[in-house]
Amino acid sequence: MGKAIFQALNDFLSRTHDMGAFVVDFSDNSFDVMSEGVFSAILDGSINPLEQLAESSRIHEADRVVLGAFCRDLLGSNKIPIHEDHFSVSFRGLVSDIPADTDYKWITLTAVIDRDESLMAKCVIGHLKMMNNAEILNKIIIDSFTNDKHPQVFNNQAKRIIDDESRNAAIIQFDIENFKLINVRYGEEKGTEILNYIKNGLDTICTDKQVYTRLSADVFMIAMSYDKPEEIERLISRIEDRLGIFGDISYKLVFGVNIITDRSIPMRKMGDRAAMARQSIKGNALKNVCYYSDNQENKLVTKKFIEDRMDYALEHGEFVMYLQPKYSISTAGVVGAEALVRWIHPEKGMLPPVEFISVFEKNGFIIKLDEYIWEQACKAIRGWIDSGVQPVPISVNISRVHLTDEKFIDVLDRLIEKYDIPKNMIETEITETVENAGDSEVIKRLKERGYMLLMDDFGSGYSSLNMLKSTPFDVIKIDRDFFSEFMLSDRGKKIISHTISMSKDIGLDMVAEGVETKEQAEFLKNCGCDVAQGYYYSKPVPINDFERLVYDDWIATD
Ligand code: C2E
Ligand code: CA
Ligand code: CA
Repeated sequence: MGKAIFQALNDFLSRTHDMGAFVVDFSDNSFDVMSEGVFSAILDGSINPLEQLAESSRIHEADRVVLGAFCRDLLGSNKIPIHEDHFSVSFRGLVSDIPADTDYKWITLTAVIDRDESLMAKCVIGHLKMMNNAEILNKIIIDSFTNDKHPQVFNNQAKRIIDDESRNAAIIQFDIENFKLINVRYGEEKGTEILNYIKNGLDTICTDKQVYTRLSADVFMIAMSYDKPEEIERLISRIEDRLGIFGDISYKLVFGVNIITDRSIPMRKMGDRAAMARQSIKGNALKNVCYYSDNQENKLVTKKFIEDRMDYALEHGEFVMYLQPKYSISTAGVVGAEALVRWIHPEKGMLPPVEFISVFEKNGFIIKLDEYIWEQACKAIRGWIDSGVQPVPISVNISRVHLTDEKFIDVLDRLIEKYDIPKNMIETEITETVENAGDSEVIKRLKERGYMLLMDDFGSGYSSLNMLKSTPFDVIKIDRDFFSEFMLSDRGKKIISHTISMSKDIGLDMVAEGVETKEQAEFLKNCGCDVAQGYYYSKPVPINDFERLVYDDWIATD
């Protein structure tokens, strides 16, 4: 063994409290335990510890598959070139020597590889360490955002699969029907075990032409290439057969499939279509697999209707800005508002943004519509200043379509100038996704030019701690689905509360979206998040109603 690697081992052991370290030397295939630590307890004295580690009855059942795969990879690392130096895996094990002890501890196995020029492993040094409370909490938080398999990694792999024009490609999404019921009936811990079981199972079922990620608690997504359509059906039935039952608990898996016909549309959209197909059969007892078709997207309002009408609608004032107040939980006063567009159609009535925004994002009309709404927001603030009341800031949504070009900042600047209002009265809401992560330069520019940045939909799908690190947001808005889902369990609440304190630590403010009950508001207040937006306080309302809502406040502050 080289000198450098001994040095590394020494560093290793001096940094952490020792729970066992080992060396696998591939020159003679020897396995040496450098310090026994937990090895003796976990392994019951077996001779080939790494091979048997995952099978040990002292390892938590739910973690065995992952740990097994990890160990196999390590032991095979002299056969395939490896590009990383450090690997680690976390799992739960029983570490006490008292046989009756059933208290699992979180353990991290870290390995460092010493390689030859062709990147094959010469030797592996591994080390086991018990995780401390902070690390465990971190892991829970990070897992909840990065979904075990980092979405960026998935995105790159999926893109490679989809770009390979020699084969067909599809995106599959699936989830567990009524997963919440499982939590209620069998307890949250069982629920988590089932999710881990599915995730680990996918590891073994999926081939290298089938990559997967976990989008949220119980939603999984697979990108695959194939030659014959039967391959999709085969994959789905394997997943159903092998992962649709856990011990004696069986549940229904619901699949949405999007066959890729246009390889140029963004990944996110491809995933959305699979999601649409999946959601379209929720609660349908007869069907658990649905293929996406165009009419799902345009179910309620046809794309053609929208595109034929949009210019006319904009010119004739059919698009209206609604304001949803943001409240301070402690004072119950309005501290701001979000501008949300509504399409008031003379015959069809009020159309919500979900029905038209995605069409506009595709055909570019969103640029015009957003600018129109920004102008309405500036106008409202001017109006408040003119009538002598203390204005509250309005946050406007900046569609990701704007973010490829910083010209839109000039538009905002001109509006601020035209209505002669303080810049801090207009705040900007941006949803960061894997796709526009590269646009963070433009977002930074927006900040440099004096605009307040709100990160929209934090905790949903792709937005992650990582992006928070790379872009200078001022405020994060906790996504309403994330919030409502996590509020259902104690563990989820803990994650929310730590997310809030973490954000405060790094100097960010918080707004919680989708607050629907008094209990939720109280909880947020106790966690240190004082600003809430949601139906508990008010739905988005036309500007006149908004003014009436805050009128009392205005009297009070005058
Ligand atoms: P968003 O930016 O996340 O906006 C918040 C959404 O949550 C709004 O839906 C709002 O009505 C809804 N909401 C607020 N409180 C509650 C609650 O307590 N419970 C529930 N269930 N929902 C609540 P809305 O207005 O339908 O807007 C949907 C999305 O459309 C927005 O999500 C935003 O992404 C987009 N959007 C809306 N207006 C505009 C716009 O002018 N420009 C752009 N680019 N996008 C817009
Ligand atoms: Ca928003
Ligand atoms: Ca949002």
